[in-house]
Amino acid sequence: MEIIHVSAECYPVAKAGGLGDVVGALPKYQTNMGHNAKVVMPMYRTKFLYQNEWSVDFKGRSNLGDWWFDFTIIKEKHNKLGFDLYLVDIHGLLDREKIYGYDDDASRFTAFQIAVVNWISKWQHKPDVIHCHDHHTGLIPFMMKHCWDYNYLADIPTVFTIHNGQYQGWMTWDKSVLIPRWDSWKRGMLEWAGNINPLASAVKCAWKVTTVSWSYLDELKYNSNGLEALFEYEKGKCSGILNGIDAEVWDPATDSYIDNHFSIEDVDKGKEANKKLLCDQFNLDSDKPLFIFIGRLVGEKAADVLPDAILSSFYSFGDKVNFLILGSGESHVEWQLSQLKHSFPGRYNAVIGYNEKLSHLMYSGADFLLMPSRVEPCGLNQMYAMQYGTVPVVRDTGGLRDTVVDMGDFQGWGIRFNYATVGDITYSIWRGIDLYHENKEHLSWMRKRMMEIDNSWENAVQQYLNLYSSLR
Ligand code: ADP
Repeated sequence: MEIIHVSAECYPVAKAGGLGDVVGALPKYQTNMGHNAKVVMPMYRTKFLYQNEWSVDFKGRSNLGDWWFDFTIIKEKHNKLGFDLYLVDIHGLLDREKIYGYDDDASRFTAFQIAVVNWISKWQHKPDVIHCHDHHTGLIPFMMKHCWDYNYLADIPTVFTIHNGQYQGWMTWDKSVLIPRWDSWKRGMLEWAGNINPLASAVKCAWKVTTVSWSYLDELKYNSNGLEALFEYEKGKCSGILNGIDAEVWDPATDSYIDNHFSIEDVDKGKEANKKLLCDQFNLDSDKPLFIFIGRLVGEKAADVLPDAILSSFYSFGDKVNFLILGSGESHVEWQLSQLKHSFPGRYNAVIGYNEKLSHLMYSGADFLLMPSRVEPCGLNQMYAMQYGTVPVVRDTGGLRDTVVDMGDFQGWGIRFNYATVGDITYSIWRGIDLYHENKEHLSWMRKRMMEIDNSWENAVQQYLNLYSSLR
């Protein structure tokens, strides 16, 4: 099958979160299984762009309202990622340092989608499926059905995957002129609650919709930033496919970011050596349990509760515990988490920013990973943690519910709690401290147990392939 993935992120080209990881891995595994998977994404000014060789695949011209723009599609020459990678260059609009966060993001991603559809409409053949990811690509299924210039593509199956339904790409109706000439009878296919809503439009127009876990799909029906009724109505075309993890990048036995490699047999020893490195680097005590948090410091991840939960743990459990935080996001949370460094030197540290290498060392050296997320579509951190023998301490929601079994349940290997509150988090930290100090043998068993779990992509890839086949 020829599968075209359209996305705003793809690791290692550009990544802001889990979306990048998934789009970097899924096509690689599809290609390995004998399919022709391609990724097309915007050309940002990233290191990957400058460090690799490119050839021009297509040059086109289109319009965003009354602004005509030229675009170029370039292709990576040496198949570095294990699949064909195409970047869309729209000068002045996409070629920026950051992926998101500009005032004109609506125009940037609309122009990107127009360029992609325009490009595919010029091919001599039709691909088997177009797989769009998140709201930045949510207008494509609409364009392929209801834009006069492109509806010749309407018979190509489209799949839309929701990695995060909280962000929907809302636009006011004055932006409707940006979308290429469309059938105005189909206005309802763009609209939700008085705005153009690209995520809602994709749910309405795509042939099939997937989310990255079953529990998250269930939750969207009662908590999806206004789209609850839509998910209930469209549930017949929706399904959940749990993400896998890329074993070529995330394997403690081969991970190029860490010095002390380990596998199930020597997990305790390997983790101890990595923990020592980490604790030396961040002035922490390696004899105490190390709890880490890695991620975006935003409300969805309940990062705002972390400072109080950490304070409460220090007040309740004294110096029995260490914390190390890595993340960036809302400035008041960043500030609070930085300030704690001054109050608890020697048992708390935080790095504000994005650091891929450090994140690998943290997964490999920590004892526990905190994930109190209010919303978690799938969550990759807990799966990486499990792969590296780090006990996930997670809220009972979305993909966390589907991947972590509490240690109090039969053969469980994690710690699960109900609410993103200081009380629940502190209590869970206590369970971890108790396990670490009082039951090392069981901790060691849990590490091995979680490392045995198969979170590989193969299973997920097969489910996506079955879904595509059902559309042909
Ligand atoms: P989301 O996509 O909602 O941010 P996921 O759990 O699906 O959350 O994926 C997060 C990914 O981003 C993981 O690979 C995690 O290690 C990585 N990550 C998040 N923040 C940072 C950071 N500050 N430094 C390094 N890696 C990070």
